[in-house]
Amino acid sequence: MSFIERGLRGLLLGELLSGMSLTLKYFFRPKVTLNYPYEKGPISPRFRGEHALRRYPNGEERCIACKLCEAICPAQAITIEAEPREDGSRRTTRYDIDMTKCIYCGFCQEACPVDAIVEGPNFEFAAETREELFYNKEKLLANGDRWEVEIAANLEKDAPYR
Ligand code: SF4
Ligand code: SF4
Repeated sequence: MSFIERGLRGLLLGELLSGMSLTLKYFFRPKVTLNYPYEKGPISPRFRGEHALRRYPNGEERCIACKLCEAICPAQAITIEAEPREDGSRRTTRYDIDMTKCIYCGFCQEACPVDAIVEGPNFEFAAETREELFYNKEKLLANGDRWEVEIAANLEKDAPYR
């Protein structure tokens, strides 16, 4: 671009006008940004988020303490202790997950024969201390109660592929 052309463009504010026309062009297009955390994008039904222990509709824990999840966990993040109840059924007395070790592989969920341990859709569980990431059975069951509707819907969507 010659010196005269540059001068003319500067005089006629060409750069400014082309910038403003570009702004105008995008002003009326649908926005691609989200106002997070008030808006959230869709996530896959297979998304592997925060763990939860589920119950049956009557409130009974699904987990039968078979320990398959504990055995398969490659990070050795799960610790289970169990003993039979008075009615002879077997249930956990301790179910801990060290979330600082977990690599979110989903093996525990896949190994579980009764869909008790699942990785739910929650990805907003950042903590300020390590201790907050040592989940116990109470915390995991509370997660299950909180997210049951979404988890059940996701498992149903995913059922044909399992
Ligand atoms: S997601 Fe993987 S690493 Fe995490 S607890 Fe389950 S099996 Fe272990
Ligand atoms: S969560 Fe599932 S795999 Fe793990 S001990 Fe309970 S029933 Fe077995």
